[in-house]
Amino acid sequence: MADPIVYFNDKYMPDSEARLPLLTHCLHYGTGVFEGIRGYYDAGAGEIMLFRAKEHFERMAQNVKFLDLHLPLSPDDLVGVAAELVRKNGFTGDVYVRPISFKSSNKVGVVLPKEESFAMVVVALGRYLDTQKGLHLGVSSWRRLQDNAIPGRGKICGGYVNSALAAQEARDRGFDEAIFLNEDGHVAEGSAMNLFLVRQGRLVTPDVSQGILEGITRETIITLAQDSLGISTGTRAVDRSELYVADEVFLCGTAAEVAPAIRIDGRQVGNGQPGRLTLRLQKLYEDVVHGRMTQYRQWLVPCYHPAARGAGAA
Ligand code: PMP
Repeated sequence: MADPIVYFNDKYMPDSEARLPLLTHCLHYGTGVFEGIRGYYDAGAGEIMLFRAKEHFERMAQNVKFLDLHLPLSPDDLVGVAAELVRKNGFTGDVYVRPISFKSSNKVGVVLPKEESFAMVVVALGRYLDTQKGLHLGVSSWRRLQDNAIPGRGKICGGYVNSALAAQEARDRGFDEAIFLNEDGHVAEGSAMNLFLVRQGRLVTPDVSQGILEGITRETIITLAQDSLGISTGTRAVDRSELYVADEVFLCGTAAEVAPAIRIDGRQVGNGQPGRLTLRLQKLYEDVVHGRMTQYRQWLVPCYHPAARGAGAA
């Protein structure tokens, strides 16, 4: 798409007209908060459905408080903007919605200035990680950022330097992805995805005080495992050594979806194949995001035929 339509400071406009001065505060100091939302294309229905878009904007509405930013619209109205951007650009494939709220002052100075802007862009996005082959993960030499340095639950732009360092290091060392430990040495998450283990048929994932982002996919997996498979998830501190003895390990996130791991630090996970429970959850997740499970249709927002939205939609 040569010049896509974007949403910038309360207006829809061609991307080429959305200009920012070079001194924009967020560019220098990372003073912004963003989100990432997937939309799945259904060729048969000619529809794109945004997955849990309202929950993403609700999380964003909480996170902007860290930087004294303010969203210009309610979460419901921001879902409407995202759907309108999909329509205006006429996408016919899977998409990724990227809203960003940021400090836009042009003054040099490390404070939290008042001036702020909001933008939303939609791009085409296929797979982010290989969800089929089974990933080789490596524990990063970089520690996950601490809550009292940059809140990791905040999706704060500057905090993603931490993620980029770990993700690049992992690739440079021949791994597909990184696993962050927190400053206590407990397992936190991937560079931009949450992590689950399977031990004795039970799901385990680091609890929200381990420096993780409170992932919407993480919460979706916990719900699907409980409601559809009757499997509960233990949320607690996870030792590094548990990664090596787990029966199954997988990463999950909006971009990453559900991605099984088959090696960690060179050691085989389980039997060295994507795990059985992981694959069941991956299939369930795929069915849910593609609207094949009616009981979860309320999580989907159809962009092209909004009237088709399931009953009970929020
Ligand atoms: N952790 C981090 C650091 C992330 O950036 C993301 C992606 N938003 C996730 C986990 C997964 O969160 P979600 O499922 O809400 O996309």
